[in-house]
Amino acid sequence: MLDLKTNAVETPTADTSFDPYGRLLRMLMPSLRGVVVHDGYAKLVWASDEWDLSDEPQLIDEAIANAVSDSTEFPGVARTLDADRVVYSFAVRAEQIELLGVVSLVVRLSGNRIEPRPLQTVRQLVQPALECMRRELALRAKLGLSERDLNIKERDLELMMDLSSHQTAASDAVEFSQILKTGLDRMSCALAALWVPDKNISVSLTQSGAPMSPEALQRAQHHLTAWMQLQQRTIVINHISKVASDVAAPYKILACPIRHHSGRVMGVLALFNPPSAPDFDVQHTRVAEMLAKRSTSIIQAQYDSSTGLMTRQAFEQQAGAVLGAAGGSQHSILYLDIDRLHVINETFGMHIGDDVIVSVADRLAKTLPPEALSARISGDRLAALIPNCTMESAAAIAEQIRAAAEDIVPRAGQGSFEVSVCLGVAPIGRSDNPLAHALATAEIACKAAKDRGRNRVEMFQDSDQSIIKRHTDILVIGKLRDALENDGFRLDAQPILPLRGNYGRPRFELLIRMIGERGEIIPPDKFLSSAERYQLMPSIDRWVVSRACQLLGQHRASVGEEFARFAINLSGQSLQDNSFLAFVVDQLKASGLPPGVLCFELTETATIGNLEKAQLFMHTLQELGCEFALDDFGTGVSSLAYLKDLSVDYIKIDGSFVRDAATNPRSESMIKAIAQLAKVMCMETIAEYVETDVLRVRMTDLGVDYGQGFAMGKAQRFEDLLEELAIYEATVSNWALPESAQQATEI
Ligand code: C2E
Ligand code: CA
Ligand code: CA
Repeated sequence: MLDLKTNAVETPTADTSFDPYGRLLRMLMPSLRGVVVHDGYAKLVWASDEWDLSDEPQLIDEAIANAVSDSTEFPGVARTLDADRVVYSFAVRAEQIELLGVVSLVVRLSGNRIEPRPLQTVRQLVQPALECMRRELALRAKLGLSERDLNIKERDLELMMDLSSHQTAASDAVEFSQILKTGLDRMSCALAALWVPDKNISVSLTQSGAPMSPEALQRAQHHLTAWMQLQQRTIVINHISKVASDVAAPYKILACPIRHHSGRVMGVLALFNPPSAPDFDVQHTRVAEMLAKRSTSIIQAQYDSSTGLMTRQAFEQQAGAVLGAAGGSQHSILYLDIDRLHVINETFGMHIGDDVIVSVADRLAKTLPPEALSARISGDRLAALIPNCTMESAAAIAEQIRAAAEDIVPRAGQGSFEVSVCLGVAPIGRSDNPLAHALATAEIACKAAKDRGRNRVEMFQDSDQSIIKRHTDILVIGKLRDALENDGFRLDAQPILPLRGNYGRPRFELLIRMIGERGEIIPPDKFLSSAERYQLMPSIDRWVVSRACQLLGQHRASVGEEFARFAINLSGQSLQDNSFLAFVVDQLKASGLPPGVLCFELTETATIGNLEKAQLFMHTLQELGCEFALDDFGTGVSSLAYLKDLSVDYIKIDGSFVRDAATNPRSESMIKAIAQLAKVMCMETIAEYVETDVLRVRMTDLGVDYGQGFAMGKAQRFEDLLEELAIYEATVSNWALPESAQQATEI
């Protein structure tokens, strides 16, 4: 295959440093008839006296080329020279990788031996000598680089720098062309090509004119990729035989494999020259391999190493090119998420989870039409762009993918689990960034598929309530995160007034609002449910606690324990958060406030859902002096039954009962019962949503202690209230509720 007549005809040097190794070799193998040593650049280093240079040098050349081209695999080769002689060539490497040289031995078949000894047996036999030679060659490589070697290294270095300077090129196609152009220039070739069918890469470049017809080029691609799969190593064809003409008539060929990181050959980089051009030699091989390696690294950066799908970045780039080139036709996006992969990861280990991702990616790639682009967006999320495909057709493909994923079964020894996926389908519409928009909408549809029970396909529809909710969530969450980072909230305070007797100490409930982009006030019902779904409640509650402590701390003198109490709402998610309690304690201590200033409102559902944690939370803070209220009481399932387990100070009767109380006797008797029970348990009651004077009187008659609602006072900015409290404190010793607390306008 390889024909390099340049190397072995060189005259051996007068170097005698290898003589002892020659003698050692003969001791180890008496049938030895000659030794020749080449270095890693195929330069003749030493030959034993009996080595006959007229002996077919081609075999040695071929071995050297193989050793040079095959970076790690090639251990050596055995070839029959004539009826009674065999040539064994062994690659000698540093650290198993860098080629230091090739040692070739001519061995005579001894006595009645007809069959040559296997390569491996000979290698074992001569191993001690090879080891000595390896050290000698390594030393030479380190110390004694000849002028020629230096030149080669310089040229290699220059080439690598040339290639890496193109790293920032706009697209892969440009980069690949650049690599091929470097190949053409460095080796004065007629034609260079890069073919990676797996990745839809097919680039070719000619030096001048068009030396090969498109049909011939296609034939060459077909044969060379097939050969690469078989041979798995660099191929050089300098003799244009009948076979070679069939491949790429009539060209000399140098072809290097493009490997997947697993070692699998996925493509070929090939250089072609007319018969009149000089042969491809070892130097050409080195350069071509460097170019192939560079192409491989570009490809690897573009594709996810385990699934072989594109990376998100490459996907966006290539999809952008497809969308730019395509006219007005309809394209679709698929978004895939593997169901409960975390359960597989946790139960069977991450490696099994990874296997599942690879299997799903494989089903996805196999089911998609060839023109589709597919990517691993992140973790267990995959996406695909299907050009010229309506939503309906895309949904049909998605359904096939879903079914194919369902068929995945664990391999032997992996345990027992089921695999399923959710897919969202969305059209690519017209917008500033159609791909990002379509990906987001397909993701929303995919989430809707999860909400609806998993193992499903959902199409994005503008009218779908759950999908709209998801969409809203995603929009809201972005704003919420901004607000959390930039203090984009404010607190309002609503008074809670005693229904009988004098005012006593004033009480207020603190309520959060988000401040919109244009300064508008966004009420909590617009963002808290999204925050809950995205687990942001602990961050929100932390913000409220720290802001409340900060503002109250600034007005310590006017709000001191004797004057007012402020209630802070906490969510169930914060109770779950183990570090939240310590956070509250720290904030309180840092503010220097008497803890009795604060009351915490926990909903009945949150408390009962986290009973133990809630009890610890309450106990710790009550010890310090804080109070607790059970919020939205009556909306939970078995409220009354749990009351004995909770040492709360107040029960807040849910607004829905209060509102109904004037007209619904059942609500009325419920409120009465709660008020009586609370008294027995030494708790006080607060009626929410006291919207009218009629209700206020009703609540008083039913025995409720406090009222909160529009009829008693609306919420106002917390800072404003604190200012007023300060003025009152300074002027009125016997505290009365500020006028504005009752008249503040609703926001
Ligand atoms: P909630 O704890 O039950 O708070 C009382 C809600 O009822 C407040 O709504 C208040 O403005 C409203 N309200 C007061 N009086 C009346 C009335 O007479 N009629 C009617 N229709 N409504 C009245 P807001 O401020 O929109 O808060 C809604 C819910 O958001 C709160 O319900 C609470 O669950 C939650 N929330 C508010 N602020 C916070 C906070 O800082 N942290 C947490 N975790 N949740 C909060
Ligand atoms: Ca509340
Ligand atoms: Ca409430």
